Amino acid sequence: MPVPSACFPRIIWSFAREPGECRALIIGHRMLPFKLIYSDDYFLPIGSHVFPAEKYKLTHDYLLARKVADASDFVAPRPATDDDILLVHTPQYVQKLKTGTLSAREELEMEVPYSPELVRAFWLAAGGSMLAADYALNDGVAISIGGGFHHAFPDHGEGFCMINDIAVAIRRMQADEKIRTAMTIDCDVHQGNGTAVIFAPASVPGNRLGSIPNLAEMARSRKPPCDVFTISLHQENNYPAFKPPSSLDLNLPDGMGDGDYLACLGTAISLGLEKFPRPELICYVAGADPYRDDQLGGLSLTIEGLKERDSLVFRLAKAEGIPVMVTFAGGYAHRLEDTITIHSNTVAAAKEVYGGK
Ligand SMILES: [Zn+2]
Repeated sequence: MPVPSACFPRIIWSFAREPGECRALIIGHRMLPFKLIYSDDYFLPIGSHVFPAEKYKLTHDYLLARKVADASDFVAPRPATDDDILLVHTPQYVQKLKTGTLSAREELEMEVPYSPELVRAFWLAAGGSMLAADYALNDGVAISIGGGFHHAFPDHGEGFCMINDIAVAIRRMQADEKIRTAMTIDCDVHQGNGTAVIFAPASVPGNRLGSIPNLAEMARSRKPPCDVFTISLHQENNYPAFKPPSSLDLNLPDGMGDGDYLACLGTAISLGLEKFPRPELICYVAGADPYRDDQLGGLSLTIEGLKERDSLVFRLAKAEGIPVMVTFAGGYAHRLEDTITIHSNTVAAAKEVYGGK
Protein backbone atom coordinates (compact mmCIF):
# COMPACT_ATOMS: atom_id res chain seq x y z
CA MET A 1 0.00 0.00 0.00
CA PRO A 2 1.40 3.44 -0.85
CA VAL A 3 2.31 5.70 2.03
CA PRO A 4 -0.48 8.27 2.37
CA SER A 5 1.56 11.45 2.02
CA ALA A 6 -0.99 13.58 3.82
CA CYS A 7 -0.28 11.63 7.00
CA PHE A 8 3.48 11.30 6.60
CA PRO A 9 5.61 11.53 8.70
CA ARG A 10 3.43 11.30 11.80
CA ILE A 11 2.00 7.94 10.81
CA ILE A 12 3.93 4.97 9.50
CA TRP A 13 1.88 2.42 7.60
CA SER A 14 2.92 -1.17 7.73
CA PHE A 15 1.49 -4.35 6.31
CA ALA A 16 -0.23 -6.56 8.82
CA ARG A 17 -0.18 -10.33 8.61
CA GLU A 18 -3.35 -10.58 6.56
CA PRO A 19 -3.16 -9.60 2.91
CA GLY A 20 -4.87 -6.32 2.24
CA GLU A 21 -4.89 -5.31 5.88
CA CYS A 22 -2.85 -2.30 6.83
CA ARG A 23 -1.87 -1.03 10.23
CA ALA A 24 -0.85 2.43 11.24
CA LEU A 25 1.81 2.98 13.86
CA ILE A 26 1.33 6.43 15.29
CA ILE A 27 4.60 7.89 16.47
CA GLY A 28 4.52 8.87 20.11
CA HIS A 29 1.58 6.58 20.95
CA ARG A 30 2.84 3.09 21.33
CA MET A 31 0.02 0.70 20.63
CA LEU A 32 -0.70 -2.23 22.88
CA PRO A 33 0.98 -5.41 21.66
CA PHE A 34 -2.48 -6.99 21.43
CA LYS A 35 -5.98 -6.11 20.30
CA LEU A 36 -9.10 -5.15 22.21
CA ILE A 37 -12.27 -6.24 20.47
CA TYR A 38 -15.15 -3.84 20.98
CA SER A 39 -18.28 -2.36 19.44
CA ASP A 40 -20.80 0.09 20.86
CA ASP A 41 -23.33 -2.50 19.69
CA TYR A 42 -22.15 -4.89 22.42
CA PHE A 43 -24.79 -3.08 24.48
CA LEU A 44 -27.55 -5.49 25.50
CA PRO A 45 -31.02 -3.93 25.14
CA ILE A 46 -32.50 -5.46 28.29
CA GLY A 47 -33.94 -2.40 29.99
CA SER A 48 -33.57 -1.88 33.71
CA HIS A 49 -31.71 -4.99 34.85
CA VAL A 50 -29.14 -6.13 37.40
CA PHE A 51 -26.85 -6.83 34.44
CA PRO A 52 -25.26 -3.43 33.68
CA ALA A 53 -25.42 -3.54 29.89
CA GLU A 54 -23.69 -0.17 29.65
CA LYS A 55 -20.53 -1.60 31.24
CA TYR A 56 -18.93 -2.39 27.90
CA LYS A 57 -18.96 1.19 26.64
CA LEU A 58 -18.00 2.50 30.08
CA THR A 59 -15.00 0.14 30.16
CA HIS A 60 -14.01 1.19 26.65
CA ASP A 61 -14.23 4.85 27.63
CA TYR A 62 -12.37 4.28 30.92
CA LEU A 63 -9.49 2.55 29.11
CA LEU A 64 -9.14 5.52 26.78
CA ALA A 65 -9.52 8.16 29.50
CA ARG A 66 -6.89 6.49 31.70
CA LYS A 67 -4.64 5.97 28.66
CA VAL A 68 -4.45 2.25 29.31
CA ALA A 69 -5.31 1.89 25.63
CA ASP A 70 -5.35 4.03 22.52
CA ALA A 71 -8.21 4.24 20.03
CA SER A 72 -6.05 2.33 17.55
CA ASP A 73 -5.90 -0.67 19.91
CA PHE A 74 -9.59 -1.40 19.40
CA VAL A 75 -10.93 -3.55 16.58
CA ALA A 76 -14.63 -3.78 15.76
CA PRO A 77 -16.05 -7.27 15.31
CA ARG A 78 -18.57 -8.47 12.76
CA PRO A 79 -21.54 -10.51 13.93
CA ALA A 80 -21.15 -14.26 13.86
CA THR A 81 -22.96 -15.93 10.98
CA ASP A 82 -25.76 -18.40 11.59
CA ASP A 83 -23.34 -21.13 10.50
CA ASP A 84 -20.94 -20.06 13.26
CA ILE A 85 -23.71 -20.17 15.85
CA LEU A 86 -24.82 -23.59 14.59
CA LEU A 87 -21.40 -25.02 15.40
CA VAL A 88 -22.61 -25.03 19.01
CA HIS A 89 -26.35 -24.41 19.13
CA THR A 90 -29.17 -26.58 17.81
CA PRO A 91 -31.04 -25.59 14.63
CA GLN A 92 -34.31 -25.64 16.60
CA TYR A 93 -33.03 -23.16 19.18
CA VAL A 94 -31.51 -20.86 16.54
CA GLN A 95 -34.79 -20.96 14.62
CA LYS A 96 -36.72 -19.95 17.75
CA LEU A 97 -34.36 -17.06 18.36
CA LYS A 98 -34.56 -15.85 14.77
CA THR A 99 -38.33 -16.06 14.62
CA GLY A 100 -39.13 -14.89 18.13
CA THR A 101 -40.84 -18.15 19.08
CA LEU A 102 -39.26 -18.99 22.43
CA SER A 103 -41.78 -20.25 24.92
CA ALA A 104 -42.57 -18.12 27.96
CA ARG A 105 -40.68 -20.63 30.08
CA GLU A 106 -37.62 -20.49 27.83
CA GLU A 107 -37.58 -16.71 27.98
CA LEU A 108 -37.99 -16.81 31.76
CA GLU A 109 -35.08 -19.19 32.07
CA MET A 110 -32.89 -16.87 30.00
CA GLU A 111 -33.63 -14.07 32.50
CA VAL A 112 -33.31 -11.35 29.86
CA PRO A 113 -36.25 -10.09 27.80
CA TYR A 114 -36.27 -11.44 24.25
CA SER A 115 -36.09 -9.03 21.33
CA PRO A 116 -34.65 -9.25 17.80
CA GLU A 117 -32.21 -6.51 18.84
CA LEU A 118 -30.98 -8.71 21.69
CA VAL A 119 -30.45 -11.58 19.25
CA ARG A 120 -28.30 -9.26 17.12
CA ALA A 121 -26.27 -8.23 20.18
CA PHE A 122 -25.54 -11.87 21.06
CA TRP A 123 -24.58 -12.72 17.47
CA LEU A 124 -22.17 -9.77 17.66
CA ALA A 125 -20.77 -10.93 21.02
CA ALA A 126 -20.06 -14.32 19.43
CA GLY A 127 -18.39 -12.61 16.47
CA GLY A 128 -16.30 -10.59 18.94
CA SER A 129 -15.12 -13.71 20.73
CA MET A 130 -14.26 -15.38 17.43
CA LEU A 131 -12.20 -12.35 16.45
CA ALA A 132 -10.52 -12.29 19.87
CA ALA A 133 -9.59 -15.96 19.49
CA ASP A 134 -8.18 -15.29 16.05
CA TYR A 135 -6.12 -12.32 17.23
CA ALA A 136 -4.94 -14.23 20.30
CA LEU A 137 -3.52 -16.96 18.06
CA ASN A 138 -1.46 -14.30 16.26
CA ASP A 139 -0.55 -11.95 19.10
CA GLY A 140 -0.46 -14.24 22.14
CA VAL A 141 -3.40 -12.51 23.80
CA ALA A 142 -6.55 -10.62 22.81
CA ILE A 143 -9.40 -9.30 24.90
CA SER A 144 -13.02 -8.85 23.94
CA ILE A 145 -14.56 -6.01 25.94
CA GLY A 146 -17.68 -8.18 26.19
CA GLY A 147 -18.79 -11.79 25.87
CA GLY A 148 -18.34 -14.62 28.35
CA PHE A 149 -21.92 -15.90 28.23
CA HIS A 150 -21.08 -19.22 29.83
CA HIS A 151 -24.60 -20.18 30.96
CA ALA A 152 -25.91 -20.69 27.39
CA PHE A 153 -26.53 -24.35 26.44
CA PRO A 154 -26.80 -25.78 22.91
CA ASP A 155 -30.60 -25.77 23.03
CA HIS A 156 -31.51 -22.99 25.44
CA GLY A 157 -30.33 -19.88 27.21
CA GLU A 158 -29.97 -19.36 30.95
CA GLY A 159 -28.80 -16.76 33.43
CA PHE A 160 -28.60 -13.69 31.12
CA CYS A 161 -26.91 -15.80 28.41
CA MET A 162 -28.49 -16.50 25.01
CA ILE A 163 -25.49 -17.68 22.97
CA ASN A 164 -22.33 -19.29 24.32
CA ASP A 165 -19.82 -17.06 22.54
CA ILE A 166 -16.85 -18.82 24.15
CA ALA A 167 -17.88 -22.17 22.70
CA VAL A 168 -18.72 -20.65 19.30
CA ALA A 169 -15.23 -19.11 19.15
CA ILE A 170 -13.53 -22.40 20.02
CA ARG A 171 -15.59 -24.44 17.58
CA ARG A 172 -14.99 -21.87 14.81
CA MET A 173 -11.22 -22.00 15.36
CA GLN A 174 -11.37 -25.81 15.31
CA ALA A 175 -13.54 -25.91 12.20
CA ASP A 176 -11.08 -23.60 10.45
CA GLU A 177 -8.25 -25.92 11.60
CA LYS A 178 -6.54 -23.08 13.43
CA ILE A 179 -6.54 -25.10 16.66
CA ARG A 180 -7.30 -28.66 17.65
CA THR A 181 -7.52 -28.23 21.42
CA ALA A 182 -8.45 -25.51 23.87
CA MET A 183 -8.79 -24.96 27.60
CA THR A 184 -11.36 -22.72 29.26
CA ILE A 185 -10.42 -21.09 32.56
CA ASP A 186 -13.68 -19.72 33.93
CA CYS A 187 -13.19 -17.39 36.90
CA ASP A 188 -16.70 -15.94 36.99
CA VAL A 189 -18.20 -16.45 40.46
CA HIS A 190 -20.91 -18.62 38.88
CA GLN A 191 -20.12 -22.04 37.47
CA GLY A 192 -19.78 -22.24 33.68
CA ASN A 193 -22.57 -24.77 33.30
CA GLY A 194 -23.30 -24.21 29.62
CA THR A 195 -19.64 -24.45 28.67
CA ALA A 196 -19.24 -27.60 30.79
CA VAL A 197 -22.11 -29.33 29.00
CA ILE A 198 -21.09 -28.21 25.51
CA PHE A 199 -17.59 -29.63 25.88
CA ALA A 200 -18.38 -32.61 28.08
CA PRO A 201 -17.07 -35.82 26.54
CA ALA A 202 -20.49 -37.30 27.24
CA SER A 203 -20.11 -40.25 24.92
CA VAL A 204 -17.04 -41.45 26.73
CA PRO A 205 -17.98 -42.85 30.12
CA GLY A 206 -15.22 -42.78 32.67
CA ASN A 207 -13.33 -39.98 30.99
CA ARG A 208 -13.54 -37.53 33.82
CA LEU A 209 -10.44 -36.01 35.25
CA GLY A 210 -7.89 -38.55 36.28
CA SER A 211 -9.73 -41.59 34.97
CA ILE A 212 -8.91 -43.81 32.05
CA PRO A 213 -10.71 -43.15 28.74
CA ASN A 214 -12.94 -45.88 27.41
CA LEU A 215 -10.89 -46.91 24.38
CA ALA A 216 -13.75 -48.65 22.59
CA GLU A 217 -15.85 -45.50 22.79
CA MET A 218 -12.89 -43.42 21.64
CA ALA A 219 -12.42 -45.64 18.63
CA ARG A 220 -16.07 -45.19 17.64
CA SER A 221 -15.78 -41.43 17.90
CA ARG A 222 -13.98 -39.44 15.25
CA LYS A 223 -13.06 -36.80 17.78
CA PRO A 224 -10.69 -37.27 20.68
CA PRO A 225 -12.58 -37.83 23.95
CA CYS A 226 -11.78 -34.37 25.15
CA ASP A 227 -10.64 -31.68 22.77
CA VAL A 228 -11.60 -28.84 25.11
CA PHE A 229 -10.68 -29.00 28.79
CA THR A 230 -12.96 -26.90 30.96
CA ILE A 231 -11.89 -25.43 34.30
CA SER A 232 -14.37 -23.54 36.47
CA LEU A 233 -13.57 -21.77 39.77
CA HIS A 234 -16.81 -20.69 41.34
CA GLN A 235 -18.68 -20.22 44.60
CA GLU A 236 -20.37 -23.49 45.47
CA ASN A 237 -23.41 -21.92 47.15
CA ASN A 238 -24.49 -19.91 44.17
CA TYR A 239 -26.19 -20.15 40.79
CA PRO A 240 -26.55 -22.55 39.06
CA ALA A 241 -28.09 -24.89 41.62
CA PHE A 242 -27.19 -27.91 39.51
CA LYS A 243 -23.61 -27.80 38.32
CA PRO A 244 -22.90 -30.22 35.49
CA PRO A 245 -19.29 -31.37 35.75
CA SER A 246 -16.56 -29.40 34.03
CA SER A 247 -13.29 -31.22 33.37
CA LEU A 248 -12.14 -29.58 36.60
CA ASP A 249 -14.45 -27.81 39.04
CA LEU A 250 -13.29 -25.92 42.09
CA ASN A 251 -16.28 -25.40 44.38
CA LEU A 252 -15.17 -22.52 46.58
CA PRO A 253 -16.63 -21.78 50.02
CA ASP A 254 -18.50 -18.57 50.78
CA GLY A 255 -16.35 -15.59 51.60
CA MET A 256 -13.06 -16.85 50.19
CA GLY A 257 -10.54 -14.01 49.95
CA ASP A 258 -7.61 -13.09 47.73
CA GLY A 259 -4.89 -15.33 49.12
CA ASP A 260 -6.81 -18.58 49.19
CA TYR A 261 -8.44 -17.86 45.83
CA LEU A 262 -5.12 -17.19 44.11
CA ALA A 263 -3.68 -20.38 45.59
CA CYS A 264 -6.67 -22.36 44.27
CA LEU A 265 -6.38 -20.77 40.85
CA GLY A 266 -2.68 -21.54 40.59
CA THR A 267 -3.31 -25.12 41.61
CA ALA A 268 -6.22 -25.49 39.19
CA ILE A 269 -4.23 -24.25 36.23
CA SER A 270 -1.21 -26.41 37.09
CA LEU A 271 -3.42 -29.46 37.50
CA GLY A 272 -5.30 -28.67 34.31
CA LEU A 273 -2.11 -28.36 32.30
CA GLU A 274 -0.82 -31.58 33.83
CA LYS A 275 -3.99 -33.46 32.79
CA PHE A 276 -4.38 -31.68 29.46
CA PRO A 277 -0.92 -30.52 28.35
CA ARG A 278 -0.30 -27.84 25.77
CA PRO A 279 -3.80 -26.67 24.80
CA GLU A 280 -3.51 -24.54 21.69
CA LEU A 281 -5.72 -21.77 23.07
CA ILE A 282 -6.84 -20.68 26.54
CA CYS A 283 -10.23 -18.99 26.82
CA TYR A 284 -10.10 -16.99 30.02
CA VAL A 285 -13.51 -15.95 31.37
CA ALA A 286 -12.60 -12.97 33.55
CA GLY A 287 -15.83 -12.43 35.48
CA ALA A 288 -15.79 -9.39 37.76
CA ASP A 289 -18.30 -10.94 40.17
CA PRO A 290 -15.96 -12.76 42.61
CA TYR A 291 -15.58 -9.19 43.96
CA ARG A 292 -16.46 -8.82 47.65
CA ASP A 293 -19.04 -6.12 46.97
CA ASP A 294 -20.87 -7.92 44.17
CA GLN A 295 -24.66 -8.17 44.34
CA LEU A 296 -24.77 -11.70 42.92
CA GLY A 297 -21.55 -13.11 44.35
CA GLY A 298 -20.50 -14.39 47.73
CA LEU A 299 -16.71 -14.47 47.50
CA SER A 300 -14.53 -11.75 49.02
CA LEU A 301 -11.90 -10.81 46.49
CA THR A 302 -10.64 -7.23 46.44
CA ILE A 303 -10.13 -5.16 43.31
CA GLU A 304 -6.38 -5.67 43.75
CA GLY A 305 -6.85 -9.42 44.22
CA LEU A 306 -8.88 -9.64 41.02
CA LYS A 307 -6.13 -7.88 39.08
CA GLU A 308 -3.61 -10.32 40.57
CA ARG A 309 -5.90 -13.14 39.43
CA ASP A 310 -5.78 -11.80 35.87
CA SER A 311 -2.00 -11.41 36.04
CA LEU A 312 -1.61 -14.96 37.28
CA VAL A 313 -3.55 -16.38 34.34
CA PHE A 314 -1.59 -14.28 31.87
CA ARG A 315 1.79 -15.08 33.44
CA LEU A 316 1.19 -18.82 33.50
CA ALA A 317 -0.16 -18.85 29.94
CA LYS A 318 2.71 -16.75 28.66
CA ALA A 319 5.27 -18.96 30.41
CA GLU A 320 3.72 -21.99 28.69
CA GLY A 321 3.53 -20.19 25.33
CA ILE A 322 -0.25 -20.66 25.12
CA PRO A 323 -2.33 -17.89 23.50
CA VAL A 324 -5.13 -16.43 25.63
CA MET A 325 -8.41 -14.93 24.52
CA VAL A 326 -10.36 -13.09 27.20
CA THR A 327 -14.06 -12.41 27.70
CA PHE A 328 -15.62 -10.42 30.54
CA ALA A 329 -18.72 -12.38 31.67
CA GLY A 330 -20.51 -11.10 34.83
CA GLY A 331 -20.00 -8.16 37.14
CA TYR A 332 -22.71 -6.74 39.41
CA ALA A 333 -20.91 -4.59 41.96
CA HIS A 334 -23.09 -2.28 44.03
CA ARG A 335 -21.00 0.55 42.59
CA LEU A 336 -20.93 0.21 38.81
CA GLU A 337 -17.58 2.01 38.75
CA ASP A 338 -16.04 -0.90 40.67
CA THR A 339 -17.14 -3.32 37.94
CA ILE A 340 -15.65 -0.99 35.31
CA THR A 341 -12.38 -0.77 37.26
CA ILE A 342 -12.16 -4.57 37.60
CA HIS A 343 -12.77 -5.12 33.88
CA SER A 344 -10.33 -2.36 32.92
CA ASN A 345 -7.72 -3.86 35.22
CA THR A 346 -7.88 -7.06 33.16
CA VAL A 347 -6.58 -5.04 30.21
CA ALA A 348 -4.02 -3.30 32.44
CA ALA A 349 -2.80 -6.68 33.74
CA ALA A 350 -2.41 -7.99 30.20
CA LYS A 351 -0.52 -4.83 29.29
CA GLU A 352 1.89 -5.38 32.19
CA VAL A 353 2.46 -9.05 31.43
CA TYR A 354 2.64 -8.77 27.64
CA GLY A 355 4.79 -5.68 27.63
CA GLY A 356 2.80 -2.66 26.44
CA LYS A 357 4.02 0.71 27.69
ZN1 LIG B 1 -21.39 -14.57 37.04
